[in-house]
Amino acid sequence: MIFVKNPCIRCGKQRIVVKTKRELINGSWVTTTTTRCPDPDCQRIVEKQLKKDNDAREMLISQFKNLNSPFNRRSDIVLGKRKKNI
Ligand SMILES: [Zn+2]
Repeated sequence: MIFVKNPCIRCGKQRIVVKTKRELINGSWVTTTTTRCPDPDCQRIVEKQLKKDNDAREMLISQFKNLNSPFNRRSDIVLGKRKKNI
């Protein structure tokens, strides 16, 4: 039995681990794993979808942060870091 840890959200194939990174975020170690689909065409479509989702989420987050603390620049730093990871 093969346990599929990271099935592709589109085709269900086992995703390839491109890189893993350990970061200290708010005092705890967080492991970020970057995976991609073995099918390049599928990966392209998934990335497009992820980017769309990310853009929408980042827009929501920045709107939310702006409402709560208009002078808090932390959100910019966090979002900038996120983009680099992808
Ligand atoms: Zn796929």
